[in-house]
Amino acid sequence: MSVPESAVGDEMKQAKEIEDAEKYSFMATVTKAPKKQIQFADDMQEFSKFPTKTGRRSLSRSISQSSTDSYSSAASYTDSSDDEVSPREKQQTNSKGSSNFCVKNIKQAEFGRREIEIAEQDMSALISLRKRAQGEKPLAGAKIVGCTHITAQTAVLIETLCALGAQCRWSACNIYSTQNEVAAALAEAGVAVFAWKGESEDDFWWCIDRCVNMDGWQANMILDDGGDLTHWVYKKYPNVFKKIRGIVEESVTGVHRLYQLSKAGKLCVPAMNVNDSVTKQKFDNLYCCRESILDGLKRTTDVMFGGKQVVVCGYGEVGKGCCAALKALGAIVNITEIDPICALQACMDGFRVVKLNEVIRQVDVVITCTGNKNVVTREHLDRMKNSCIVCNMGHSNTEIDVTSLRTPELTWERVRSQVDHVIWPDGKRVVLLAEGRLLNLSCSTVPTFVLSITATTQALALIELYNAPEGRYKQDVYLLPKKMDEYVASLHLPSFDAHLTELTDDQAKYLGLNKNGPFKPNYYRY
Ligand code: NAD
Repeated sequence: MSVPESAVGDEMKQAKEIEDAEKYSFMATVTKAPKKQIQFADDMQEFSKFPTKTGRRSLSRSISQSSTDSYSSAASYTDSSDDEVSPREKQQTNSKGSSNFCVKNIKQAEFGRREIEIAEQDMSALISLRKRAQGEKPLAGAKIVGCTHITAQTAVLIETLCALGAQCRWSACNIYSTQNEVAAALAEAGVAVFAWKGESEDDFWWCIDRCVNMDGWQANMILDDGGDLTHWVYKKYPNVFKKIRGIVEESVTGVHRLYQLSKAGKLCVPAMNVNDSVTKQKFDNLYCCRESILDGLKRTTDVMFGGKQVVVCGYGEVGKGCCAALKALGAIVNITEIDPICALQACMDGFRVVKLNEVIRQVDVVITCTGNKNVVTREHLDRMKNSCIVCNMGHSNTEIDVTSLRTPELTWERVRSQVDHVIWPDGKRVVLLAEGRLLNLSCSTVPTFVLSITATTQALALIELYNAPEGRYKQDVYLLPKKMDEYVASLHLPSFDAHLTELTDDQAKYLGLNKNGPFKPNYYRY
C-alpha cells in the first residue's frame, strides 16, 4: 500500500525520536535482548437489542467496509451452519462458571486449544517475548479492547497480552473469519470474547459494543484491525478516550482512517500505524502472499500452473510475492502497473509489462493486487476466454467490478464453496473466486510464522504506547521506531538458526552507527 501523505511527515518526526531509541519503554521491559481515513460511513445503524433471525439477516451487510473486506481465514474446521440458534440467544458458561463471553459453542474449547497449541509451535518469537517479559508484566493494568480476526494465531497474541498483565475483551473484525473453536478456547481460558463465524452485520456491532460497553470495566488501549472498533468508540462512547492511552492499528484501511482523523484534528489519542512497519509490510504483504496465493488457487480450482498465462495487476509487495510463486511453478506471468518504478522492477525480474486489454483475451488467470478499485471491469470480463479464473489478493473487494456481473443475462452457478461460475449467454464461463474478496484469506490459510511477525509487532506497539511517559506521543499517528522493527526481526532469527554478524567498534564508527542499531535510516527501503 502507499503510505498516506501525512505518513512522510510522521516518519520525519520519528527520525528525531529514534536517536533516543534506548529510552523507549519496551527496551526497558524486554530488551534483555539476545545479542546476537476516518471516512466513516454516516451514522451506523445501531445494533438491534432484541434481534430476530430474519431481522439479523435482512440488515445491510454494507455498513462495515472492513468487516467484510478484510481478510477471512478459512482455517476453521467448524461449520457456521451446524447450529441455527444464534449465540446471542444461548446461555453458556465456561468450566469456571463465567458467562462473560459470547461464542458459537463453548464445548469446542478443547479442540480450539489444540489449534492454538499448533499455532504456538510456529510463533516461537512471540512466545519468547511472552516468556521474556512476563516477569515484568509490562502490560499490568492495561485493559485492551481488541477487534481482529479471531484465529489460532491471534489467540496466541491475545494470550500473550494476558500473560504480560493485560485484561482483554475481544471481538472479530470480520464476520466470516472467526475460528469458532478458537473463540471457545479463549472464552474457556477466561478471555471475554464476543465472536463467531457467520455473524450478521447487526451481530458484528453488538459484539463490538459488548466489548466496549461493560459496567465496571473501561478500556485504556485499543488494538484494531480495520478501524471499526475505533469508529464505534468515537461514535458511541467518546468519553472512553479520556482513559485511552493509545490505538494500535494494523490494516491499510484503519490506518487510512486514522490519518484522516489526524488531518481533521479529531484524533484525540496517540496511534501506532503497524501496517507500515517494515516487519509488517515487507513480510506479511510479500511473503504471506508468496506462500498462500497458490494454495488459494489450488484449493478452489485444482488448476495446474505450468505453462499457464497469468496476468497480475499491481507489482507492489503483494504482487511481487504472487509473481514469484507463480513463476516458480512455470506460469507465464504478465504484469500491469501504473507506476514506472514498479513496472521497471517487473521488467528486471523477467516479467512482461502489459496493458490488461492487450492480454485479456488469452490469459488463463487474472489476479488483482493493487489496493485500487475497478481494475478489472465488466468490459474485461466480457472479453475473457472461457474458464478464465479471476481473483483478488488486495484488501477490498473493489478491485474486480463484481457488481457489474449481477445482471439478468448472466447466470451465476455456485460450484464449490467460494467458487462461482459466471455464465454468459453463449455458454462462456468465468471462474470467480471468493466473489472478488481476498483470495488467500478467504479460501486457504496463511502461514503462521508470518503472522507471528505481525503479532509481535502489535504486542510491542501496545507495550510502547502503554508505557510511554506522558508527552512522548502526541495526538498523532506514529510509525513504530525502527529499533523495534529490528527487535521483532531479531526475535525471529533463532527459528532459522541465523547468526548475526556484529559490527566492530571501528566499523560502527566508520558507518556512524550504534553497534546495537538502528542499522538503517528511516528512509531506507529494504
Ligand atoms: P503496494 O502499494 O505496494 O502495491 C500496489 C501496486 O498496485 C502499486 O505498485 C501500484 O502502483 C499498483 N497499482 C495501483 N493501481 C493500479 C492499476 N489500476 N493497475 C495496475 N497497477 C496498479 O501495496 P501492497 O502492499 O502490494 O498491497 C496491495 C493490496 O493487498 C492492498 O490492498 C493490501 O491491503 C493488500 N494486502 C493483502 C494481503 C493478503 O494477504 N492478501 C496482505 C497484505 C496486504
